[in-house]
Amino acid sequence: MFSPKDLAAPPVRTLAPYVPGKPLEELEREYGIRDSIKLASNENPLGTGKLALAALAKAAGDIALYPDSNGFALKQALARKHDCDPACITLGNGSNDVLVMIAEAFLTPGSEAVYSQYGFAIYPIAIQATGATARAASALPAGHPMALGHDLDAMRREVNERTRVVFVANPNNPTGTWLEAAPLRAFIDALPRSTLVVLDEAYTEYVRDPAFPNGSYWLTACPNLVVTRSFSKAYGLAGLRVGYALSHPEVAGLLNRVRQAFNVNSLALAAARAALDDEEHLRATIAVNDAGMQQLLSGLAQLPVGISPSRGNFVLIDCRRPALPVYDAMLRQGVIVRPVGNYQLPNHLRLTIGTQAQNRRMLEALRAALAI
Ligand SMILES: *Cc1c(COP(=O)(O)O)cnc(C)c1O
Repeated sequence: MFSPKDLAAPPVRTLAPYVPGKPLEELEREYGIRDSIKLASNENPLGTGKLALAALAKAAGDIALYPDSNGFALKQALARKHDCDPACITLGNGSNDVLVMIAEAFLTPGSEAVYSQYGFAIYPIAIQATGATARAASALPAGHPMALGHDLDAMRREVNERTRVVFVANPNNPTGTWLEAAPLRAFIDALPRSTLVVLDEAYTEYVRDPAFPNGSYWLTACPNLVVTRSFSKAYGLAGLRVGYALSHPEVAGLLNRVRQAFNVNSLALAAARAALDDEEHLRATIAVNDAGMQQLLSGLAQLPVGISPSRGNFVLIDCRRPALPVYDAMLRQGVIVRPVGNYQLPNHLRLTIGTQAQNRRMLEALRAALAI
């Protein structure tokens, strides 16, 4: 009798794997259709910018060599962008990698971490893998303008002397909801210094409001703050996997102890470095998202669905009935969106904002699916 489950580390035995968006190739293979579109993983519909593509082609000649383990050039550029010391930066294989490093470096069985009920799905996975206790704080209730969003008071109530990490996503995925600067800053300031706050800003480039909080400005005043950013969303590099954390240099030093030596590959380092300079691509990305958000919101207003407010590149809708048949009917029309049953939101779907043509097709597929 071979029972791997009994051999696994106890926290791993009960871990639920992350559920990714369905890949295009898989849909086309399984359903025998072509020309399908994926608006399921909040990727950039304009793709990768010209500067990053050129840097990639150039870097391809050097992949026989190990990458720069310390990511010198990328860290220098990020340090300039954020006006911080390179010693405050931790590079990751996607910001997901950084989130896992934070859990590995600061959580043990017996310690605790807090996240919001509908906070990003990686948080409970990263917490539980360490054996620490994951405490989900209730989300803001139905009827609240930011329903399903982070309830900072509820999160604060889950914090105790064993809490080492609190995860906050702003804006949050999958809800799209956000937190304003004053309450967020007050929440961070009120936490004990024995608790790190991870402020996940994966979508921050999409937010237009100049009053929107930028965690990178608070690092000096808040030594227990860790801000994470990603190149996967607005920068259009999801497939390469690059993200980073900004933190107190001693926190970065600890994260670097658990970091795999070559966690960010040389193509990713080169492309991310170049993408930072591609302001034109970033501007175009944001403009397409703004227009797409308007298009989606006006299209959705004609359909029998509830709409969550969003400042990301996606919108969460409430189908007011089980969403899986709606999802499946959209798949059959070649449109992949994201069911969020893994968040205990069985009636909801998350729609990534695409190009104008993609949005039109998604709205049409949704309308037809809801009419069944
Ligand atoms: C997409 C996403 C990330 C992770 O992205 P990476 O591809 O790992 O950089 C992190 N946080 C949130 C809230 C996200 O939606």
